[in-house]
Formats: sequence, structure tokens, C-alpha cells
Amino acid sequence: MHSTYLITSFLLTLSLSFSHSSLAQQDQPSTCYGTIGKGKLENGHLLPTEGKNFKTYSMEATENGYTTAHSRVADIVVAAYEWMSMRQPMQTLIYADASLPEGGKFPPHVTHQNGTSVDFMVPVLNQDGLPAQLERTAENRWGYDIVFDENGRYGDYIIDFETMAMHIYALQLKAKEHRSRVARVIFAPELRPLLFDTEYGPKLKDINFYKKAAKVRHDEHYHVDFKIKCQPLEQPQPVTEKTVKSE
Ligand SMILES: [Zn+2]
Repeated sequence: MHSTYLITSFLLTLSLSFSHSSLAQQDQPSTCYGTIGKGKLENGHLLPTEGKNFKTYSMEATENGYTTAHSRVADIVVAAYEWMSMRQPMQTLIYADASLPEGGKFPPHVTHQNGTSVDFMVPVLNQDGLPAQLERTAENRWGYDIVFDENGRYGDYIIDFETMAMHIYALQLKAKEHRSRVARVIFAPELRPLLFDTEYGPKLKDINFYKKAAKVRHDEHYHVDFKIKCQPLEQPQPVTEKTVKSE
């Protein structure tokens, strides 16, 4: 009985110290390296699974660490949600892929390599003009495969351009408060006039929208890159005779 208690207590201490050490990273600021197209991330912060007006696009993706961002980016994203919660509390905002826990290649994305990119699913309204949620399943890649027409419609849903414009404005506002900027937004060019024709549309003038046509049509999500100073990506050390011998 006594030894069972000791073993249980030992295992509990072991698991607590393990979870503590893995959580400790979230207390440290992140360091990003290289660029969004070729980079890596140290001490990445997992975006909070959910808050009062936001949530991850997929618990499975979050558990796999696909929603890891640079600490400052994570702070900006959460601060923008908080700002939104006081102005548009009825709409639940969904974020999607950010970076892998240590950055690097993140297929099928071309970028998302150093924790400074985050995808956001477009907010939608239903037929009655009320905030709604799209069905996100493994079959539609948790929403990434949904296709909106040139009027921003998909079935009974329409993109909530008012909320979306407000959100992009909030990201820029909070980025500036965190020594950053929105470096770039990618969103389908044919849908942008509907985004700009909103209350917050005119406030998006200083946002750099990607001019070229992206390889993948960004209609069901908008991609946001944040300006964060990153370290140069170190070159791999050449293997010399000396290093081989010392090992
Ligand atoms: Zn993206």
C-alpha cells in the first residue's frame, strides 16, 4: 500500500514536472528566424484554444501545434479579439493555421515558417443576417476547402465583411501597440471591394494587401503577416574532420 502510494506520487511528480517544463516555454518570449518563406521559431506560443469571442478552427490542429505563433503575434491576436469583444460581441471569430511549434516548412502553406503568419477564417452571417458558423469537418479541411462566390456567398451564408474589416483594423491597431505592424494581408482581390465598402473599410488604407494573385484563392480565409524583427537563419555548420572526431 505504502509503496504503491510512493510510486503513484513519484509518477505524479514526474508528470507534473514534465508538463511544467513544457508550459514554461510559454513564459519566455519567442525568437523568430529567417523569413515567412524560409524560417524557424523558438519558444513559440500556442494561440489560446478559445476565448469569449474566438476559437481555434480545429482542436486536432491545435493539439498538433499548428496554431503556434511568435509570442508578440499571439499577444496581438488575443488583444485584437479582446478589442472586438467590446464592439462585436455576437460574432465568434475563428483563427486557423499559424506555424508549427518550431517553425519551418508547413505544407501546404508556402509561408507560415517563422511564427509571424496567421490565417483567419472569414466570419459569416446566415440568411437572417445573424452571426453564424460554417461547418468545419475533416472532409472540408476544417473550412479551408469552402469556396465563396464573387459576391462572398456560400450556400445560405455570406461573408460578414463588416466584422472582417473591423478585425483587420483591430489587428493593425493592436500590432502598433505591440511594436509591430500588419505587414501584409492576402484576401481574394475580387472580394476586396466588398470589404472596403464597410464602416471600417476606409480605415484599412494603410494596410498592405497582397497585389498579385495568390496561388491559392483566399476567399474562405484571410492570411495576415506581422512585421516582427527576426534573427538571420543560421547556416548549417559544415561537417569537418575535426567536428566528426570530437564526437
Ligand atoms: Zn496563410
